[in-house]
Amino acid sequence: MNTSLIDSLNPAQREAVTATDKALLVLAGAGSGKTRVLVHRIAYMATELGLSPYAMMAVTFTNKAAAEMRHRIEALLGGPAAGMWIGTFHGLCHRFLRAHWHDAGLPENFQVLDSDDQQRLIKRAIRALNLDENQWPPKQAQWWINGQKDEGLRPEDIRHQGDLFVATQLKIYQAYEEICRVAGAIDFAELLLRVVELFKKKPALLAHYQTRFNHILVDEFQDTNGIQYQFVKLLAGPHTDITAVGDDDQSIYGWRGARVENLNTFLKDFKQSRIIRLEQNYRSTATILAAANAVIDHNTGRLGKELWTEGNKGEAIAMYSAFNEQEEARFIAEKIEQWVDSGKDYSSIAILYRSNAQSRVLEEALLQRRIPYRIYGGLRFFERQEIKDALAYLRLTFNRDDDAAFERVVNTPTRGIGEKTVETLRERARLHQMSLWKATQLLVNEKGLPARALAALQGFMQLVITLDSSTNEVPLHEQMRTVIHESGLAAMYAAERGEKALARKENLEELINAAREFEPDEEVEDLSPLAGFLTHAALEAGETQASEFNDAVQMMTLHSAKGLEFPLVFIAGMEEGLFPHSMSMEEPGRLEEERRLCYVGITRAKEKLFLTRAEKRRMWGRESYSDWSRFVDEIPSELLQEIRLGGKLTTPVYQRSHSSASLPNYPFKVGSDVEHSAFGIGTVLGYEGDGPQMRVQVNFTGAGCKWLVLAYAKLNAV
Ligand code: ATP
Ligand code: MG
Repeated sequence: MNTSLIDSLNPAQREAVTATDKALLVLAGAGSGKTRVLVHRIAYMATELGLSPYAMMAVTFTNKAAAEMRHRIEALLGGPAAGMWIGTFHGLCHRFLRAHWHDAGLPENFQVLDSDDQQRLIKRAIRALNLDENQWPPKQAQWWINGQKDEGLRPEDIRHQGDLFVATQLKIYQAYEEICRVAGAIDFAELLLRVVELFKKKPALLAHYQTRFNHILVDEFQDTNGIQYQFVKLLAGPHTDITAVGDDDQSIYGWRGARVENLNTFLKDFKQSRIIRLEQNYRSTATILAAANAVIDHNTGRLGKELWTEGNKGEAIAMYSAFNEQEEARFIAEKIEQWVDSGKDYSSIAILYRSNAQSRVLEEALLQRRIPYRIYGGLRFFERQEIKDALAYLRLTFNRDDDAAFERVVNTPTRGIGEKTVETLRERARLHQMSLWKATQLLVNEKGLPARALAALQGFMQLVITLDSSTNEVPLHEQMRTVIHESGLAAMYAAERGEKALARKENLEELINAAREFEPDEEVEDLSPLAGFLTHAALEAGETQASEFNDAVQMMTLHSAKGLEFPLVFIAGMEEGLFPHSMSMEEPGRLEEERRLCYVGITRAKEKLFLTRAEKRRMWGRESYSDWSRFVDEIPSELLQEIRLGGKLTTPVYQRSHSSASLPNYPFKVGSDVEHSAFGIGTVLGYEGDGPQMRVQVNFTGAGCKWLVLAYAKLNAV
């Protein structure tokens, strides 16, 4: 027996790895080795029990986690895990649909829509119904439709019972479905729903896969939604064993339909199931773990788990309160430099934030100091305008009926096809239930449009046809290059000025590289490289940024940090209103979800954790002042250490107001001492703003450096 496989596990983990139960639920807190158990269990079954990799399916949450899992399994097996299905729910479902497109009622060249495309088509559905977009925003409809699909509901399953809102959303859902059908396109939620329906419709096919998969393993089970649960349950046949691992305290996708109750449903549905708990944390220092435990302890209705560690106490958790977001970013950049100067890698560092909108300022600070970084989510490479433009041309060469692609580039670069012409196309398409491309053909044949518009449309169609024929039989990256240049996109962006245009040109070059380096998923048989790449782009959108440094700081939202770990972690924007997000503060359920998100964030850190905030932040077009996040208050103070700037550290913010400090409307001179009723004696460092907004920065001897609103601070000269 390959003893090293289980030697490196504690007794509870070993039990979970070697358990022979039909259904196993590993329920345990962050960093206790759940993912490790999953990976070792797979390797154990392959090497010790002789189970073929072909008979196993492992599901995780992100492409990154799936790649990591495959890598770890292969390291344990000492070779490729050929034939094993490892992927995300979406990725695996896509694979089923490529293999069984016909039975699933899809065209062979069906296209996966990302969120942006989906919204575009929903917008069209709203217009077709003559609804007012302000009253019925596409984004809201998108949310509603995806919510229904996540629950496995089709329009015919939904009763509106006279409710105008539901009735209208239902109509939009129906119209959108029709548009998708004509375009041969499916969105993310549809990937799952289609597969579930396919299996229900074709019992023989389902039986085939049930027999094939002897073992299904699911990581992050607490975040499965209704349809994902159905998928797993369907696939688990009479001879399938199933392993689920999860942590109710890390359920953070409730807002997107995830159901933490699935943990309980699992125990009910899989009768002979067994629970194993893991309680030792191997990831974080005792201090970090204690802080995480203290925060999550404020939630009610937990399944209740204890976590302990044999690890070192480690350093205190550092708090830093910056004046504004620029200063916060500068502080983080400075700390990163110090960490790297002590001989550590950039890749050992993560900056986490609640909202994608926070990343720009942080990026600027890193760029300024030439700190390499990489963003997950946020600045999504495959969602950038220029990338989507280029891909839309490619998609049209692949499938002329792809309406989302058609709308995107029919007049990009501009070729004299105005909104009016496009509206005529849409109407015609709607009338005949056909794609925009076919409607265009029809109108061109009938000469049903003004001559100029007709000529422009003909030119566009000819371009797509030429692109298609001239890229046949050439390698993928050559196809990409041809499309970018012949479509006029390269010239269009070259003609633009400024840094943004330059970045766009570079991104297009990067797209050619991405195509060159693309390795198709070899197990999705018979998929052309182009089709493979287009799907890859749709599924990857939102996960990685293409231009990668190997050694780079990782930036991502707290949501996308799930399952990952880093020696040094910054959580930026620890402010009331931002985190917890203002939208969640009213509802206890939502607030608890934010708290779990905080627990996820804290437990990503192995050695050192920084919590930072900006007292003043400009975001979403508003300027606001806020307090420390309540989650920081929930951490026992002995675990925290506040970093304060001494009087000698003069940030540019301070210098800005410095020279004007002698003006008569400043009540205290810079450098003079003042007294505050709570904070005691301190030295005035500078001012910011004016009128009732005026704020003063004081370095208090006991309480450290603070910005106070002058009108409320009640300072006295001493
Ligand atoms: P999360 O809930 O955040 O997903 P997890 O429970 O999946 O966490 P893992 O990522 O599997 O935890 O493990 C956390 C860290 O602890 C990893 O670095 C892992 O290698 C290490 N670890 C887990 N178990 C052991 C062990 N028995 N011996 C040594 N290291 C371990
Ligand atoms: Mg994990």
